[in-house]
Amino acid sequence: MRSLTTIGILDVQGAVREHADRMRAVGADVVLVKHAQDLDAVKGLILPGGESTTIGKLIRKYDLYEPIRSRIEQGMPVFGTCAGMILLAKSIHQQDDVHLGVMDITVDRNSFGRQRESFEADLNVAGLSGDAYPAVFIRAPQVLAKGEHVDVIATYDGHIVGVRENSMLATSFHPELTEDTRLHAYFLAMVNEA
Ligand code: GLN
Repeated sequence: MRSLTTIGILDVQGAVREHADRMRAVGADVVLVKHAQDLDAVKGLILPGGESTTIGKLIRKYDLYEPIRSRIEQGMPVFGTCAGMILLAKSIHQQDDVHLGVMDITVDRNSFGRQRESFEADLNVAGLSGDAYPAVFIRAPQVLAKGEHVDVIATYDGHIVGVRENSMLATSFHPELTEDTRLHAYFLAMVNEA
């Protein structure tokens, strides 16, 4: 029997359990990543939503920053959702510091205004077949600018909210907060093709 692909979920803050449940539902093995050695078994990594400044501090505190960054640079597929997208970005609008700085995007944090702190929208996502995808946004970022090798996979109201650059995937919304597992299956396929 073919063994299951092991996906890591960064476990320092945020919607960790939900991502783990969705990844298991699409047939992956899951490892919660709290220490650098947890990355050894992992073929792909999810960076969950939460608060990017806090997650950025915690990955440095737990000595995860360099190991995660170097694995991504070596080609390990990664999926950043909401704060996870911010962690991946090479540039953050009106902020000097960045976190992992690996993905060629500029993000704007909390980009949909106070009235729209949290909302749902049905989006067409490139690469997913079937119905529109029910996207949940919570104090979500948007992508203001992107490099030429970054593909837009989803927009909301003209704003870029889903991107892929080679083996890096990022969404402004929270795919772990819906029952729809198509984006987790899409990421698992990316990992299996890598
Ligand atoms: N607003 C958060 C940040 O800037 C992200 C919100 C989320 O992940 N739901 O880090």
